[in-house]
Parts: sequence; C-alpha cells; structure tokens
Amino acid sequence: MNPKTFSDSELLQKTQVASKNEKDATLELLKYLIQVDERRAYATLACSSLFEYVHRILGYSEMQTSERVNSVRLMRAVPEVEAKIESGDLSMSTASQVQRFLRQEKKVGKPVSEAETLNLIETCAEQSKREVEKTLFSRSSEEALATAERTKTVSESLTELKFLIPDSTFQKLKEVKDLIGNDSLKDIFDQALDVLLAQTKKRKGMEPKSTFPEKEKANDGSTSEPTDSSTPNSPSHSKPNSRFIPMSVKRFVNLRAKNRCEFIDESTHERCASTHRLQFDHYPLPFALGGKSTEANLRKTCFQHNQKAAMQGFFF
Ligand SMILES: [Zn+2]
Repeated sequence: MNPKTFSDSELLQKTQVASKNEKDATLELLKYLIQVDERRAYATLACSSLFEYVHRILGYSEMQTSERVNSVRLMRAVPEVEAKIESGDLSMSTASQVQRFLRQEKKVGKPVSEAETLNLIETCAEQSKREVEKTLFSRSSEEALATAERTKTVSESLTELKFLIPDSTFQKLKEVKDLIGNDSLKDIFDQALDVLLAQTKKRKGMEPKSTFPEKEKANDGSTSEPTDSSTPNSPSHSKPNSRFIPMSVKRFVNLRAKNRCEFIDESTHERCASTHRLQFDHYPLPFALGGKSTEANLRKTCFQHNQKAAMQGFFF
C-alpha cells in the first residue's frame, strides 16, 4: 500500500476509512480502560494508578494520558457519555476538560449534581475548546477558581502562568508596585521569588547565594529615572538612582565605620562586630526603593547584614 500511487478520490476515501478506524480504536481503548480502572488491573503491573499505566506502560504522552484517563472517569460517572463519544458529538478533549472541572468543584466541596453535569456536557459538546473554557469558567464556583492554577508552556523559554489572587494579595502587589516604581508584573514576581529563594535557602542552611545585589544592579538601566530632588551641588555629588558611590562618600563612610559592620541591633542596641566581607549598604532607604548613594544613606555592613537588609527592603 503506497499512498503515493492512489488517485485523489481513492486517497480521500481511504483517508476517511482510516479516520473511522482511528476513532473506533480510540473508543475501544476507552472501553478497555474503563474495565482496567474498575478492576484496578494496572496494579498487577506494579502501577499505582490508571494514569501511570497509560503513561508508562502504554506509552502515551502526559497530555494524551490525561485526556484518556479523564474521559474514562467521565464515562464511568456519566453513562450517557460513551454514546456521545462514539457518535463523535463529544471529543475526548472536551470530555477531559469537563471532567477536570467536575473534579475541581468536588475537591472544594461544591460537587456538581447529575442533572447539571448532563446539561454541562450537552452545552460543551457543541463548543470549541476555547468556548468550553469560557463555559466552564462561568460555571466555576468561587472556591474552585481560587484554587485553580495553570502553567502552560508557550515556547522553549516562556511559560504562561495563570492563577487568581484574592483582593488582599492584589493590594500588596499594588503597594509593591508603587514603592519600587513602575515595574512590570513579571519583574516583581521574579524579584519576590529571589527574596523567597534566598530566605528559604538560608533557613534550610543551604548556600546563601547572593542573587540579590545582582538583581538590583540589573534593574539600574530598566527603571525609569525619577525626578532629581537632591541639590545639584550637594557635597556628595551623588547621581540620583545610581549605584555609583563617589570616592569622597566611600572615604567618609569607611572612616566612620572603622572597618567594622555598622549594623545595629534595634532591640539590644549592639553593633555587629563582623569585619568580614564588608559592603556598602543603602540605609535607611534601600537602593531598590530609590535610596541615594549619599553619606547619610550609606553604611558599611557585613555580607550577612547586607543580605538581610536587601530582603527587608523588598518587603518593606
Ligand atoms: Zn554585620
């Protein structure tokens, strides 16, 4: 059988037959899978779930597995579904979307009734994937929406992340945006993750990787220049919104610090004794929040206290 030798009409006719065979085979597979699921037959092959069986033993991709397993679950829950898939009225992908929706609602304690489920299947059967998404979204309970999270790979280097946040989180986001200037959501998210990573690693005693100062540096060029409120002839000659610290300012701060960390514990009023890896730290106003490189807004701190200050600056 070489399709290249077929006439057009022959080719189209054979394609139609192959398509029908594929659909029949899929339905046959689903019917078998229902039995495998009911009997938990997959357990004899050391699989802990139907999903694992379809993915690992039958060799389907994760997405294909998810479609098949979800369809099986919907067919088991709603007997009418089998006829709809058989007739082609309901695609496996739509069945899978509906099943995911039902599971999510059940998980948050808002199970969908049988009548509602049937109605939902009727509605979605005639819709495109995008329309089904909209339908399911409009029928989702607030509880289910609040817990729904989705990641979608858009390209090799980009992933779309979708989740809903409560008003309180949104307010925090607005506050951060106002404080650090007109940063984009993805920049804020990235910076917040840096802080969380550094904190978590430190808490777990892992290498305290210094991603923070680098992140601040990277932002230098991208943030918009605020209007300069310092006097042009200020003795420090410090440029606004720049990490550059003039030599004269450095000298002044070095003399004041006497080669020792200038961090002072607010509760005990004791000064840190560390002389190790001293760095310039924008204080009291962190650089990320618009703090300038002046003698009054700079101090020398050890590595640990510099990290600590950088973190606090962002959650200020
Ligand atoms: Zn210190």
